Amino acid sequence: RVAVLGAGMAGLLAGIKLQEMGIRDVTIYEKADRVGGTWRENTYPGLTCDVPSHHYTYSFERNPDWTRHLPPGPEIQAYFERVCVKYGLEAQLRFGEKATHAEFLDGRWQLRFESGHADSADVLIAATGVLHRPRLPNISGMDAFKGDLFHSARWDHTVPLEGRRIGVIGSGSTGVQIISALAGLAGLIEHYQRTAQWIMPTENGYYSEAEREAFRDPAVLAAAMDFEGYNAGVDAYTQAIIDENSDGARYMADACLQNLEQGVADPELRERLRPDHRPLCKRLIFSPDYYQAIQHPQARLVTEGIDRIEAAGIRTVDGELHALDLIVLATGFHADTFMRPMTMTGRNGVDLETLWADHPKAYLAITMPDFPNLFMLNGPNGPVGNFSLIDIAEHQWGYISQLLERLRAGDAMEICCSKDALETFENERSEAAKKTVWYTGGCHSWYLDARGIPASWPWTYSRFVERMATPNWADLELVC
Ligand code: NAP
Repeated sequence: RVAVLGAGMAGLLAGIKLQEMGIRDVTIYEKADRVGGTWRENTYPGLTCDVPSHHYTYSFERNPDWTRHLPPGPEIQAYFERVCVKYGLEAQLRFGEKATHAEFLDGRWQLRFESGHADSADVLIAATGVLHRPRLPNISGMDAFKGDLFHSARWDHTVPLEGRRIGVIGSGSTGVQIISALAGLAGLIEHYQRTAQWIMPTENGYYSEAEREAFRDPAVLAAAMDFEGYNAGVDAYTQAIIDENSDGARYMADACLQNLEQGVADPELRERLRPDHRPLCKRLIFSPDYYQAIQHPQARLVTEGIDRIEAAGIRTVDGELHALDLIVLATGFHADTFMRPMTMTGRNGVDLETLWADHPKAYLAITMPDFPNLFMLNGPNGPVGNFSLIDIAEHQWGYISQLLERLRAGDAMEICCSKDALETFENERSEAAKKTVWYTGGCHSWYLDARGIPASWPWTYSRFVERMATPNWADLELVC
């Protein structure tokens, strides 16, 4: 019996792949009332995935119907809902169930839920996502504001936008997309930028009906999208993170610089938009229209620091009061929670909080010592960046499925990595992470853990694919 936590992209993937393996005794638990994960939670105007549509799909379930080169959030949500129905996952889904405790007792995972429901399973798949707990800024006076105020992932669609004075705090991928969507619609849109970001130019055209029809033929779609060529691009991107002198790093740095130089007419505004860190240090922002949006007559870039929020709006440190009707906090997420706040206790009473006391860690992002038969998708230290996490989760599943086959074959009752394997992996990973642009590029970002060391996979994509293809059994403990 397998329990899956989370019905986002990764949880649905697990459900489909378990079916493929013929494992039918499966429950996918979801705290919300719908599938979709991050695409359910985020509904802000302009919500788009900056990974090209046809590369942001399951490899086994292409979607000829994407309307745009970059997929709009609502289409992604609809895609996951369709996939769920097509693969008959509804029977396995239990909504409104928030897991609070998981404990490995007598060879099984015992699960408890906020509702009072309890369950047990031989195998637990944690597919709980990475960016799901909004990070609220520490700005005084937020309660005093008389207008509307919410985090980007908690968008209140009853609040009118047209003609209103809107302040957006934060210039990550989210803030930039919101500014692009609202410039021209809002009466005034103010973008509060604490740190300027590099913006990679991109285009976001529409697929014609004829193209969408043609893409129904998988061979046509594959030829048009060149999936292998795209993966080579992902590899070059990861190489650029490691080596600032690589062709990819130079290409992206040049493209961002040209975009800024040519995209912003006013030299004073251009300087305020010029980042003080190296491109790729923070997650690169891909945008076809941000520079255009911020130069709209009704848009204003605010680079003065925020002093406080008052009843009427935002007071910046220069003393100016910016009168606003709506404040949007596009201030990011706590990227280090993963399954938490649920408590998890493994073998011999080992608990997750102790293992993760200084920072979340997992061998190959998948398994942890003394947490047998618990496998994570998009867990800590896995690859993250400007590429598809669907693809990453599929490779991780390839690895996990090999462990499940060993359990099913009766080769072991319990599988997890050894303590030594995690320690060696984590030491090598941390050292490699210090050589990446995330560490050396002169910026702060959510990629860094509490120690200030990048938390992600610090090697190439091809190395990741290779490590996922074949488990190193010497690093895994199989208990019979
Ligand atoms: P983020 O990248 O963490 O950016 C948060 C922003 O809020 C930063 O600009 C930060 O400034 C600012 N901020 C935080 N606290 C502040 C404060 N007290 N005062 C002023 N500014 C403050 O968050 P995000 O934009 O939501 O994006 C998070 C991640 O979600 C992305 O990196 C990406 O992985 C994913 N995402 C992806 C897409 C996509 O298209 N694929 C779209 C949206 C989001 P500093 O830079 O100075 O810290």
